[in-house]
Amino acid sequence: MPEPIRAVNCRTGEVDFTFPPATSAAVAAEAHRLRAGQAAWAALGLDGRATALLHWADAITAARLEIISALAADTGRWYLSEREVDGAANNLRRWAKLAPEVLTPEMTTESRQSALIGTVSYQNQYVPFALAGFISPWNFPVTLSLIDAAPALAAGCAVLIKPSEVTSRFVAPFLKTLDAVPALKAVVGLVTGGGQTGQAVVDQVDLICFTGSVSTGRGVAEAAARKFIPAFLELGGKDPLIVLEGADLEQATDAALRGSVLNTGQVCLSIERIYVHRSLYPAFVERLVEKAKNVSLNHPDIHAGHIGPLIFHKQAETIEAHLKDAIAKGATIACGGEVQTHGGGRWCPATVVIDVTHDMALMTDETFGPIMPVMAFDTVDEAVALANDTTFGLSAAVIGPSADAAKVVAMRINAGGLSINDCGLTYMTYEPEKTSFGYSGLGGSRMGPASIQRFLRKKALIVQNGAPQSINSFGEHAATTPAAA
Ligand code: NDP
Repeated sequence: MPEPIRAVNCRTGEVDFTFPPATSAAVAAEAHRLRAGQAAWAALGLDGRATALLHWADAITAARLEIISALAADTGRWYLSEREVDGAANNLRRWAKLAPEVLTPEMTTESRQSALIGTVSYQNQYVPFALAGFISPWNFPVTLSLIDAAPALAAGCAVLIKPSEVTSRFVAPFLKTLDAVPALKAVVGLVTGGGQTGQAVVDQVDLICFTGSVSTGRGVAEAAARKFIPAFLELGGKDPLIVLEGADLEQATDAALRGSVLNTGQVCLSIERIYVHRSLYPAFVERLVEKAKNVSLNHPDIHAGHIGPLIFHKQAETIEAHLKDAIAKGATIACGGEVQTHGGGRWCPATVVIDVTHDMALMTDETFGPIMPVMAFDTVDEAVALANDTTFGLSAAVIGPSADAAKVVAMRINAGGLSINDCGLTYMTYEPEKTSFGYSGLGGSRMGPASIQRFLRKKALIVQNGAPQSINSFGEHAATTPAAA
């Protein structure tokens, strides 16, 4: 038997939850069970599947308090746990409505006539991948376990999900909700465990959606390539915010602060570096610092304050290393700046850093904390060059005197999701399609109605309605171009 996984409560620092990791054999058995159920699930058709998804959403809503409590114990924040659980149910409802709109009719027919091929008509048939796998990180455990699995289910796949070992408490109450929907219980599996369990999932599935770090994502992509299965990767980011000359200072600082510190900055789409036009820079920093000082920790009361603990204690080491490196290279902490320990948990206050340069890891590597390094720029060209000076390209934001002025600059930034006159709009709306640039990911958009296409193969059924051409039609005598001299 493998060693049990010991999960740390991020508010107390104590191990208060243990569970056995799913072994490769257990993952294989679960994959076998899910595959056995998939044909009947696909045969339900779009409407039948939509009905089941709606029932599941209702079951999740009915059990929301239990799931939220488990999730809050792992993540140390309550309100965002509510948003995650309600959001997951709504995501199922969204796909129940959207899938029949996007995929109906499953078959389309058109006719083509030509002297060479005769009269053919063709149809397309969508064929779901039988078993799709989903590996998710710890920062939004419920949301990111279901964000891609919901459209996959609507498309007719069976799904095998592996959440992060850091945040697996929600799995048991979540699985219980499937008792109310037997059709889905047959095709939804959640396995808990660490990296080895993740590898076993990749080994078993026909398609993998991975959300997590660049380094693990690279390993997953390599394993998928060896199996020739599609891999959709949603990885890290180092999102820039550019604040243009003439921008509204109050709005810009509100957006920057929220965009950086929400969920303690543990958001792939967090603003991690801020470039401000020199004319606004002193006032911007002053106002941002004032506002940052009013951001409070949700300690000791989980129901009060803005910032939860660091969910994964090791993340504190990255934050501390980035701050130490920046200070050693000349940066100044304008407020915050130290990871604090309260009751065994690790909290990082909203932190503003100035005198920063791109020689510092704080400006180039993913920090994943509520840290706002701010740098002045003189020209738009300079700001765009700084924003694009990264290996990442997840998303970005531009705030200007007008939406049009900001949009012109946004169009020059190499990233998938651009928020104009705000930050983080890409996680507030599910509809706009986007793909990641650089090391931030690979594969089709997870957002927008077309994202369901990732889970379908398209078959072409081409019908000859006349007589097939004989080989004589393709003989050399049929050539019309004179031979070269
Ligand atoms: P990791 O890459 O460490 O882990 C992600 C998942 O992969 C976890 O479930 C992990 O399991 C699992 N895993 C670890 N090793 C393997 C392996 N060899 N094969 C298969 N799976 C494996 O990321 P974090 O959990 O630390 O999450 C933070 C990262 O996620 C950040 O970089 C963040 O930017 C990114 N992210 C990206 C998002 C996006 O949409 N682009 C959204 C949210 C986060 P375990 O945890 O149990 O070890």
